[in-house]
Amino acid sequence: MLSKYNYNESLKRFEPKEKRCSYCFQNESENINNYDFIKLYRVKDRTNFVIYRSLKYEEMEIGISRCNTCVEFHEEDSRKSPILKYAAYLLILIFVLPAFGVKVFIAGISLSIVLFFVLHKYATKKNNPKERLTLKQGITSNETIQDLFISGWIFDKPSA
Ligand SMILES: [Zn+2]
Repeated sequence: MLSKYNYNESLKRFEPKEKRCSYCFQNESENINNYDFIKLYRVKDRTNFVIYRSLKYEEMEIGISRCNTCVEFHEEDSRKSPILKYAAYLLILIFVLPAFGVKVFIAGISLSIVLFFVLHKYATKKNNPKERLTLKQGITSNETIQDLFISGWIFDKPSA
């Protein structure tokens, strides 16, 4: 199952040998630090008496190859939408601009609306690349990780 991975002794993690990005299936990954490493757990032994609870589990870290472009895409994805930032900015304008008179107010608002449409167009274009998996999709569609799930590995640290 893990034949496609190298075990990194010092970092205690499985690093994929495959360099092709698992998110866009096009680019080659240049830097292993860009890979998405996730931790998986598996319960080894659970004792559950009324007064005594103990839990032993295994832990492993496994990487999913990822190229620079996809790293940027995922980081962008997790950040707040530019539209939201813009709404906050517009609210400030509406309160501040009237102090400079009606003309400045109208000019300021019109300019902002134009900016809004440009931003909106840019945002929708950027969020829809032809074929690129989100961070979550990449993890769940990964064959090795699916196999690991079948053999009892889970995402969350088990609790006693
Ligand atoms: Zn990629």
